[in-house]
Amino acid sequence: MGAKPFTIKIGKSTFGIKLPMVPTANLGLPSKVGRVAAGNKSKKHVVILNSHSLSDYQRCPKRYEFNNLIQIEPASRRNVFTIGAYWGKMLEIYYRAKSNKASTAVLGKLVHRMSKCAANNETFDDDQKKLLIAQDLLSTRIILYHKRYQSETQDVLGVEVGFSIILFEDAKHLFIYEGRPDRIIRMPDPFNPREKVICIIDDKTRGQDKDLIDFNNQINGYLVAANTNWFMYNYMGKQQDVKKAFDRQLVYRGNAELERWKERTIKWYRRLLNDRLNGEFLESMQCPGEYSACEFLSLCSSKDKIEYDAVMNSKFKKRDTERRSW
Ligand code: SF4
Repeated sequence: MGAKPFTIKIGKSTFGIKLPMVPTANLGLPSKVGRVAAGNKSKKHVVILNSHSLSDYQRCPKRYEFNNLIQIEPASRRNVFTIGAYWGKMLEIYYRAKSNKASTAVLGKLVHRMSKCAANNETFDDDQKKLLIAQDLLSTRIILYHKRYQSETQDVLGVEVGFSIILFEDAKHLFIYEGRPDRIIRMPDPFNPREKVICIIDDKTRGQDKDLIDFNNQINGYLVAANTNWFMYNYMGKQQDVKKAFDRQLVYRGNAELERWKERTIKWYRRLLNDRLNGEFLESMQCPGEYSACEFLSLCSSKDKIEYDAVMNSKFKKRDTERRSW
């Protein structure tokens, strides 16, 4: 089933994931580098990371190697939509339509169409009970979301905007950070409402807990890339109480904090490059072992090369898509 339910036609317009992404260069944001191919011919050492690969490395170098260099995943992993991915895709379609100036009537039709798609999507889970919960949650929440935010006049500058910025460059190194924020909007400056500021929006599904901000690569990296200080999480809660279903968390990061993130991150790039040149990515000394949520535990706990190879061949497969942001 995959992405098919999301190519939605209403009248002459097509709304769906097949629409092209807006290049950042068209938004009048600070200059960006073009996308650099992984096999760049430059004599420089090119390291390209995004928030996921950087966080992988910070958590455990070995995990970075499995996920991003060897590029494997559990053979049992099905190519299905999670609730979060499906919700993000629905909001992508919704805001693409909004930024294309779709009328309220067209938006209303669109959300009902998406609601129906979600109610019939069978890829969420094999477990019948969990499948019904996901279908019900997503099909009802998108209608409620529209009711709650339909009159909001956000100046949407871009939806799913891919960017690549140079974090550091000298004669021998080129460190690039990539990302793809869900949306970029222009909004009144909360400190001075007569001025406008750019804000990066990220859609999330979650319970009630707030995220930690200081070391969050996604937030800090997006803000450095877009040269702005404002970020917002747009939450959809999974709790039964629909009054608590939606919430927003506005985050301000000052220039000094962003500069500190950038300096630290460049150091992480250097460590990673060093590991790459040495061909050695160590296991984390803090690996929580059997309680780990890490899918590579069976590889790391193999007692010798024979067992490692057997586990690799029987439990893992090569990922068929590259893990890049755009
Ligand atoms: S199981 Fe532990 S050591 Fe192995 S990759 Fe995962 S976090 Fe790292």
